[in-house]
Amino acid sequence: MSIKSTILGFPRMGSDRQLKKLVEGFWSGKVTEQELAEGSKQLRADHWALQASYGLTEVPVGDFSYYDHVLDAAFAAGIIPERYQQVDNAGTQAYFAMGRGLQNKSIGIDVPSLEMKKWFDTNYHYMVPEVADNQTFNLHSTKVVDEYKEAKALGYAARPVVLGPVSLLALSKTAKGSSTKPLEHLAGLLPVYVELFGQLAAAGAEWVQVDEPVLSLDLDAAVYQAAFVQAYTELAQVSGLKYLLTSYFGRLGDNLSWAATLPVHGIHLDLVRGSADLDAALELIPTDKVISAGLINGRNIWKANLDKQLATLTKIVSARQSAAPVWVSSSCSLLHSPHSLKPEVGHLDEETLGWLSFAEEKVEEITILAAAIADRESVAEQLQRNAANVLSRQQSERITRPAVQQRLAALDESSYTRQAAFNVRQAVQRDTLKLPLFPTTTIGSFPQTAEVRKARAQFRKGALSQEEYLQFLDVETRKCIEWQDEAGLDVLVHGEFERTDMVEFFGEHLEGFVFTKRGWVQSYGSRCVKPPVIFGDVSRPHAMTVDVAKFAQSCSPNKPVKGMLTGPVTILQWSFVRDDQPRSQTAGQIALAIRDEVVDLEAAGIRVIQVDEPAIREGLPLRKADYEAYLKWSVDVFRLATTGVRNETQIHTHFCYSDFNEIFTAIKSLDADVITIENSKSDLKLLGALEVHGYAAEIGPGLYDIHSPRVPSVEEMAARFAALQKYIPAENLWANPDCGLKTRGWPEVKESLTNLVAVAVAARKAH
Ligand code: GLN
Ligand code: ZN
Repeated sequence: MSIKSTILGFPRMGSDRQLKKLVEGFWSGKVTEQELAEGSKQLRADHWALQASYGLTEVPVGDFSYYDHVLDAAFAAGIIPERYQQVDNAGTQAYFAMGRGLQNKSIGIDVPSLEMKKWFDTNYHYMVPEVADNQTFNLHSTKVVDEYKEAKALGYAARPVVLGPVSLLALSKTAKGSSTKPLEHLAGLLPVYVELFGQLAAAGAEWVQVDEPVLSLDLDAAVYQAAFVQAYTELAQVSGLKYLLTSYFGRLGDNLSWAATLPVHGIHLDLVRGSADLDAALELIPTDKVISAGLINGRNIWKANLDKQLATLTKIVSARQSAAPVWVSSSCSLLHSPHSLKPEVGHLDEETLGWLSFAEEKVEEITILAAAIADRESVAEQLQRNAANVLSRQQSERITRPAVQQRLAALDESSYTRQAAFNVRQAVQRDTLKLPLFPTTTIGSFPQTAEVRKARAQFRKGALSQEEYLQFLDVETRKCIEWQDEAGLDVLVHGEFERTDMVEFFGEHLEGFVFTKRGWVQSYGSRCVKPPVIFGDVSRPHAMTVDVAKFAQSCSPNKPVKGMLTGPVTILQWSFVRDDQPRSQTAGQIALAIRDEVVDLEAAGIRVIQVDEPAIREGLPLRKADYEAYLKWSVDVFRLATTGVRNETQIHTHFCYSDFNEIFTAIKSLDADVITIENSKSDLKLLGALEVHGYAAEIGPGLYDIHSPRVPSVEEMAARFAALQKYIPAENLWANPDCGLKTRGWPEVKESLTNLVAVAVAARKAH
């Protein structure tokens, strides 16, 4: 028996981020629209050829995107807010304006982008379409039809991929000034899908993959079941087309019972994160429907255990004997995996290479599974090699550090608790730190100027010696500290000139991490990130920040300098994490390393230490039923990292959002002395949450938005500060900006912070 092998989607960027170069070249005017189109066409052709070279029997098309697939879907359905329609006759420029905004003085256009949001619980971000009360829909782009024809002309068996109508609306938001919910517009949207699918059928498509990832969320069944039935009943009228209904990133759970009987021809199951669904799915999905078995993890970089996945596949195939066929596929789109392991050969050691699988290798794994079902012997060698790699990872001495495991297992309550309660600590800290009322501080980084980036690049290339580089950093740090001191800030920071981002620096200093050469994944638009890989037990061979902190403190004899660390949840969240133990355990190991650093900083005379945890909220599971367990361990690991210090030492933490409602109890349980939070864009949310939940410790809501070069006036920040004083007791309130000063230039930073200090000084006098 031969079965179909396919994937839900492939990374778009190219083996060397060619798409990034094309798109950014187009923005800057160096690449013409035609060159962009042709370069993209070539990329698609390369990616299909690559998939076919491993014997994948059907390739996805329409998974390619210049910017984002949700934006593509909205654009195709004519969901283009009025402010963009004037741009370029709603053409390619308008599309990019929706993605990234457009400021062109010569033609009098200045429009911000659509809102950007995290794509489920991945690190990919999508553009949030806006649906207005008087929304009309029309088939504005036939991109997916064109790409289908392109693939067909090249001789591929291809399956168009389209974001489904229910998910498109569920992921949209109500336009400003409108009041209807996007989903109320379903009936208006469906004819556009019917028209589009009619064109696909006419072009020769047999199957269409309709992505409805909202099926992996908690849904109001009454509303959503009706919407899905309405949508798929109407789509079923397009003759000659079969639909594969896909959802991913988790189990269908309670949505399965009604999703299983929708009038579609096949259902995809994410059997990596949603494997708990399998038995129920085999029972509930009618036997005339195809099951697409998502057995290869699209979101991680580890080789699959093919024997194990083959056992699951065999189980499905035998349960569906003589019924509709079974397909083998990726759990979700491979968009979230790096492109290929090939560039890592020679960069990573042989052993590590043997453990990994990027998009290209995942395609191969899928074809091996499909071949094994037909004739196990035909791939005996591949299966054997896979088993050897899997075993090597289980048994490697580089992965297991018994000392770390024993230490984590032996911890008791005292390792998660400060010596005294907050109010006792607050009194002690007041005595020792002697900070004024409304202390002023910043969140950590200062401008990463071209000079700073150049020095780092030269150091990496070897053009600057370690000594020269460290000297350069010292000079920058000293200038930064001296400026803060003069400006009148109270708690200073060293400026983070040695760091590119919040995780890489720590990963490079810890055992258990490796860094790939080209392990890029798309984060949003043309932006890619290269997450470190946590492959083994994490430990800290030496102090990571103590020298820098000590030096910075020595530049400021009178004012405290904050030690600056990234918290365990954030390090975990922004890495590729090992899958052979629970995430909580890996986070616990990172926490131990950070704890040791915190204690060393204290011993070195650092009296204020900030442990940033911006990713706690984004790590929230998709389903509410899973929140509690997650929040429990993420609070635990933060406490493990931060409670090793004396009462005198002030622990800060920071969050890049203030949408706290769902996690407020957890935030309180962190038991930090001071939290700073991004607030400038969402005053109401924060104050509302404070009012409802109350917050007893010290808090610094950002006083201005640093994401714009605009300098905020004293008056506007003073007004905001006065409003905050109505909700937060004066003795607990700090004055600080939002995070991210590193993205700004010095002139505006100096002016803005000078104004901020003036606000605090005036408020002290007035108090
Ligand atoms: N300390 C970091 C900074 O100021 C925090 C960044 C963040 O919260 N994302 O840049
Ligand atoms: Zn932040």
